[in-house]
Amino acid sequence: LVSAVGVRKSFGGVEVLRGVDLEVAAGEVVCLLGPSGAGKSTFLRCVNHLETIDAGRIRVDGTPVGFAERGGRLHELREREVARQRRDIGMVFQRFNLFPHRTALENVAEGPARVLRVPRGTAFDEARALLARVGLADKVDAYPHQLSGGQQQRVAIARALAMKPKLMLFDEPTSALDPELVGEVLDVMVDLARAGMTMVVVTHEIGFARQVADSVVFMVDGAVVEAGPPAQVLDNPRRQRTKQFLAKVL
Ligand code: ATP
Ligand code: MG
Repeated sequence: LVSAVGVRKSFGGVEVLRGVDLEVAAGEVVCLLGPSGAGKSTFLRCVNHLETIDAGRIRVDGTPVGFAERGGRLHELREREVARQRRDIGMVFQRFNLFPHRTALENVAEGPARVLRVPRGTAFDEARALLARVGLADKVDAYPHQLSGGQQQRVAIARALAMKPKLMLFDEPTSALDPELVGEVLDVMVDLARAGMTMVVVTHEIGFARQVADSVVFMVDGAVVEAGPPAQVLDNPRRQRTKQFLAKVL
């Protein structure tokens, strides 16, 4: 479903992604690990074209992200068309960015009602079902400030799912949470993985990676150092750099 080949990206002359390859089949979960500054967030942002890549290519479901192919050549798409592509890609960040003056239900129903033009009644019914799925059936009318961080993050996940994405990107979704709230968010992500969602997850939650990842990709300084099934990369790393990193996070 996701195919990234030779992805390069520089900021002001500094190359932050130095030829990243990554393949994610439909229904697979890939966990992206690596030290701060490795380029993990930048890579995720490239996948939904929040950043434009300098070289290489990224396809999601066969379509070049941010570009159209005409006559064998790639042309950068207009913002409107990029926005259309992004509807298929849900993204969940460290910070939940919910609309503060809207209830949980309104936060989830807003996208489908406005962007997908789903009738409001249907959008609200679906939003209720999604909030129930993330364990928040009793919080539909709560405002973000009335919810814990873990509850807010679960609303953010429901909001992304409301757009019926083909792909979900998570950028350290639990790292801003108090430790006791991490589990409830990971549980929702485990359920989602088991339901067959294709996911790319930047996380330091090794337990989560072991439990649901089909593959683990370890990145340092803008390049993939090691990739493979969790049992290999996490329990039997080949590279010294991977061992060093795991010694710190485990
Ligand atoms: P962390 O674990 O701290 O989140 P990361 O692996 O997500 O790190 P990135 O945020 O992708 O790393 O950043 C990779 C490098 O790119 C860093 O050196 C960062 O300073 C730089 N960088 C990221 N975004 C920009 C930007 N918009 N302008 C300039 N430099 C940037
Ligand atoms: Mg990051």
